[in-house]
Amino acid sequence: MNKKKALVIGAGVNGLVLSNYLQKSNYDVKIIEKSKNIGGACTPDNTIINNKNISFAKGATVLGMMPDFIFKETGLSQKLKIYSPESQKVVYFEGEDSEVNIHKDPNQLQKELSNKVGERGSVIDFRNDENKVINFIQNGYVTGEPPSLESAIRFLGKDLVDMWITGTARNLLDYYFTSEKTKLYMGMTVIESSPESIDSKGSAFIIPLMDSGSVFDGYWGYVKNGIWQVTKELGNINKALGVEINTSSEIDNIDNDNKKVFTKSGKSYDYDILVFATDPLTPTNYFENKKLKKTLEVKKYTGTSGKVTAFFKNKVKWVNHNHDGDALSSFRFIFSVDNLNDFEIKSQNAYKKLSYYEPGYIQVYCEGAGQRKLGNKEPFDKLIFFTKNISYDKKGIEMPEIHEKIKSKVFKYILNPEDCVKSVFLTPKDMNQEFYFPEGNIDHMMLTDGQNFDKRSFSEINNSFYNFGDLSDVFYCGAGAYPCGSVAGTAGYMCYKNITMHQ
Ligand SMILES: Cc1cc2nc3c(=O)[nH]c(=O)nc-3n(C[C@H](O)[C@H](O)[C@H](O)COP(=O)(O)OP(=O)(O)OC[C@H]3O[C@@H](n4cnc5c(N)ncnc54)[C@H](O)[C@@H]3O)c2cc1C
Repeated sequence: MNKKKALVIGAGVNGLVLSNYLQKSNYDVKIIEKSKNIGGACTPDNTIINNKNISFAKGATVLGMMPDFIFKETGLSQKLKIYSPESQKVVYFEGEDSEVNIHKDPNQLQKELSNKVGERGSVIDFRNDENKVINFIQNGYVTGEPPSLESAIRFLGKDLVDMWITGTARNLLDYYFTSEKTKLYMGMTVIESSPESIDSKGSAFIIPLMDSGSVFDGYWGYVKNGIWQVTKELGNINKALGVEINTSSEIDNIDNDNKKVFTKSGKSYDYDILVFATDPLTPTNYFENKKLKKTLEVKKYTGTSGKVTAFFKNKVKWVNHNHDGDALSSFRFIFSVDNLNDFEIKSQNAYKKLSYYEPGYIQVYCEGAGQRKLGNKEPFDKLIFFTKNISYDKKGIEMPEIHEKIKSKVFKYILNPEDCVKSVFLTPKDMNQEFYFPEGNIDHMMLTDGQNFDKRSFSEINNSFYNFGDLSDVFYCGAGAYPCGSVAGTAGYMCYKNITMHQ
């Protein structure tokens, strides 16, 4: 049987996962990638410290959202060594002496939250209900069934859907918890990628969504030698399968009637299906669908996440902490607010660009300690500060005072800040310029009302979720599609299921 030709635009994790599955199911796949390297936002950067060339994660840093079956079926599990800390996560509220330990066991966590922040609600009920919603989400990932309210109600019942899928995050958190600090910890992921209001319809859904990865059973962890090994190895696996990857290759125009793509370097590619694994605005440049172009132009693309990578000449030592073993690689969270109202105000202020930095929270990834656990000994220890809320205004290099302010928030909790020899600061503006994200959102497009769950689609074709507009042979599966971004490839996989189900 003749193979069908699939042309994939973009070699980020979604384009690579999609290509892997299509190539294995009787498609001949070619990829066109604009950058000189594959990986998209899951890619390395380099810096020189004391004459040593050091690689580090330029964009994405930690693994967690990837479905376990994608990790296995693509062949990645054979190539990569990964690790998620067993020790509890640690939460610091500014101005308080003792930290809160986030135990995996809900009963232990209930006790800790009750003792430390006076929680009187039910962590156990919250976790039980959240797990039901996560099961529903994960089931959809496996089957490739696109999200719909009807199937959610069938699976979960109307009450859980009203609370967890169409409801607001504030209402959800108020329902289960009494302590503002518990609500902050449990609700922080609502704004992890986007400055989404906790009062907007459907914002509750982001909470289980962000816990729906299964490679570490809902937790997060590290990849030996750095997370970009995921896209690097996927590229190698795909090439071995026969996928042709063309880097430094930019589209000039598309003749969709004759199914041909022409690049600026004068090459042309035939296709039976064309899939954009880019941001969602990119394909609108090549097709005459004014309605869709207009719809896409008014969608929300803003991001407010910043990232500092800090290098230390000696191992980082945490105040009040055991300096050996698993605990050193635990994830840590530093809150600059102590209630939901302030959390919301700061996030919205950054969205409205009222100031460059509105301190909300910092997630600290102990990448160097994680690498040591994986047997990778690097010359410098490394911490990553994933920081909220940075407005979409300026590049990191233009805001040295904010770079320093972020570092000082973390350095309060370490004993040897003087060992920090270098740090690099990336803002939403940098993400726009480095990765072509429209307004620096790490998921390409905000997870907000009208752009989330069953609405996170660009298809105008009934029962075909991943088509692009009304074009039957053109698809979209970048981070702007359901479920969202992350080093997961779930949108790429679900798009593959959509393509093969209809053909
Ligand atoms: C600073 C930062 C930190 C993050 N942290 C994490 C994290 O710790 N963990 C996590 O899971 N996720 C994280 N993310 C999110 C995650 O990296 C992204 O959501 C994910 O990598 C997106 O994958 P993608 O394949 O959809 O798109 P991309 O990675 O954006 O890939 C799209 C590709 O398309 C190419 N392209 C664009 N336009 C064209 C064109 N016209 N022609 C050809 N090619 C084109 C681009 O060059 C790119 O290679 C982070 C992102 C950033 C920026």
